[in-house]
Order: sequence, then C-alpha cells, then structure tokens
Amino acid sequence: MDYTRMGEFKPTNFESDISGYSLETQNMFVKHYYGMIGAMVYRYYEYAIVVDANIGGYNVGRDFAKNIMKKSIYLNLGVRAEREFSEYFRIFIRPSYEVKSYKLTIPETTQTLQHRLNGLYVNVGFTYRLPELRRCFLKTCHAQINHAHGNREYRSRRHPIYKKQNPHYGENYPELIKYKGKNKNKLNPY
Ligand SMILES: [Zn+2]
Repeated sequence: MDYTRMGEFKPTNFESDISGYSLETQNMFVKHYYGMIGAMVYRYYEYAIVVDANIGGYNVGRDFAKNIMKKSIYLNLGVRAEREFSEYFRIFIRPSYEVKSYKLTIPETTQTLQHRLNGLYVNVGFTYRLPELRRCFLKTCHAQINHAHGNREYRSRRHPIYKKQNPHYGENYPELIKYKGKNKNKLNPY
C-alpha cells in the first residue's frame, strides 16, 4: 500500500487552449497486489545484486470511477543491492521503476484517454529470515553454534542476529581471549 499524492493533470496537446485539472482528493492510498520473481546475478563475499520484478494489479481507491477505467497491469522492475550480515539478517537498497496506466473511456463517445502513473522508487530496508531451530533454553549455555541437548538440536543463545557465524565453530570472538586487550601482556591470561 502506497501513500500517494497526485499533482495537477496537464494536457499533452493544445496546452494553450485546455486548462489543467486538479483532483478533489489529491491524497490517497494506492494498493498493489503482485507476485514477485527475481534472481541473484552477482555475489562478492557478503554483497549481492538481485534483479527482480513485481507483476500484478493495482487499485486506486473509491474516489475513482472505476467503471470507465480500463487498468493496465502493474509492473515494477528493480535492482536490489544487499549486504548480508548473517544467515538471518541483511540490509538492502532497491531502486526501481514502476509502470502502470489506465485508459479512460469518455462517456457517450468511442474515444479513450490514456493516463500513465509511472514512478521511480528507492526502497531501503532489511530482511530477517526466521531461524529454523529453536533458541537454546539453557541460560548458562555458551555454545556459539547449533548444538544438541538431549536428542533435540538448538540454535546458539550467543549468536547475535547481525553477526555471521561459522557453522563449525562460531565466530563471536574471532580473536582468542589470550590475545585480546590487556591479556596480551599477561603471562597467564586464563
Ligand atoms: Zn545450549
């Protein structure tokens, strides 16, 4: 659902003879319903480029006389640049171009008018994938990787959603504790 403000309609022909037209209700919510298709086309470590398309329909709301409108499909083509923080969390920026229009049948004539409602968008956001495993229930458990208690597997309690983890040993502390901070100078850091 998009909050949209429509400006003045201006004629594309006979501009000096025909005046423009402003809507009574300029602010409205435009609803989109669509399917999405896309593919990753490039990947460099934690960065990725995804090309995708939203294809469906749109609804401009009750203030439009929909019985004389013939709507086109709604098409939104975008390129999403992603940065992956962990297997669950990534941020993205997605510039996209949107194509939609409608034909207006002028009552009591056979003439139609084409209105284009195209738009350029830049979306910024994040995606979060729900983990498939339950979080470990044991408050004192320090395991950094997926592990089992009894015969059930759990996900680590120590895994911040934004931090990448090696599935074999975890990566919360990539530097050994004995090399960290003032421990460097200690003979026996443990
Ligand atoms: Zn545990």
